[in-house]
Amino acid sequence: THFGFRDVPEEQKESLVRQVFANVAGNYDVMNDAMSLGIHRIWKDQFIRSMAPGPGTKLLDVAGGTDKNLGDIALRFLDYCRNIHQDSTASVTMVDINPHMLEEGKKRFSKTPYANTNQASFFVQNAENLEEIPDESMDVYTIAFGIRNCTHVDRVVKEAYRVLKPGGRFMCLEFSQVDNPVISKFYDIYSFDVIPVLGQVIAQDRDSYQYLVESIRKFPPQEKFAQMIRDAGFSTVGKGYEDLTFGVAAVHSGYKI
Ligand code: SAM
Repeated sequence: THFGFRDVPEEQKESLVRQVFANVAGNYDVMNDAMSLGIHRIWKDQFIRSMAPGPGTKLLDVAGGTDKNLGDIALRFLDYCRNIHQDSTASVTMVDINPHMLEEGKKRFSKTPYANTNQASFFVQNAENLEEIPDESMDVYTIAFGIRNCTHVDRVVKEAYRVLKPGGRFMCLEFSQVDNPVISKFYDIYSFDVIPVLGQVIAQDRDSYQYLVESIRKFPPQEKFAQMIRDAGFSTVGKGYEDLTFGVAAVHSGYKI
């Protein structure tokens, strides 16, 4: 269907927009898209390229996701191993605190080449206490757009350290702080003025979107989070992180030596 918004009388516009977005109402994934203008897909691709997993890598993907994004990292990882190394021995364990999300993930995986293989498994787990995951059992630990929602970030990083093998790598993709003053001006207007209104229109839920924006600002800035990773015992290369899109997001990484 094609909608000509400009041809719609002012008084009908809101109800039209509401109709258009009726399907996505209540879908929190929309927020990832709204906050990143859809760029989170490109960031995720880059995240996996920067991981550059070798054949047989065992990945733990924590806070694996909501509805349609569940497995975004896991699927990209397995595809990378398959396409780059023709490897089908790499495996991913996905954990999330929300059992409903995991069920959605299983459904999504059942339609991939990894269905009925031992390359993917699922556990309900709190990132702060990964009791089902043995010590020193994983090569790589990922958490994408999940750590910001955790209550005790230090405990999350400590658990990551515990479950990684010596030589293993911690990688986190998360919204972060924009440093450039010009970009940051636009980003502030977008996040504080535009996003809450979008939230109102898209989902009749201004508060959730407001929360999202605030949770991004409350999360420790790049340097501070990098220090938290070192405090947990990880070694970082250089400053320990890489900004994406002017710091709208950042990838933090550390090695368990
Ligand atoms: N990783 C996906 C992605 O990159 O698109 C989705 C991230 S989604 C925005 C955040 C997820 O974190 C949700 O599925 C939520 O259930 C999960 N989550 C929140 N707190 C958690 C915790 N303490 N432990 C594990 N998962 C948690």
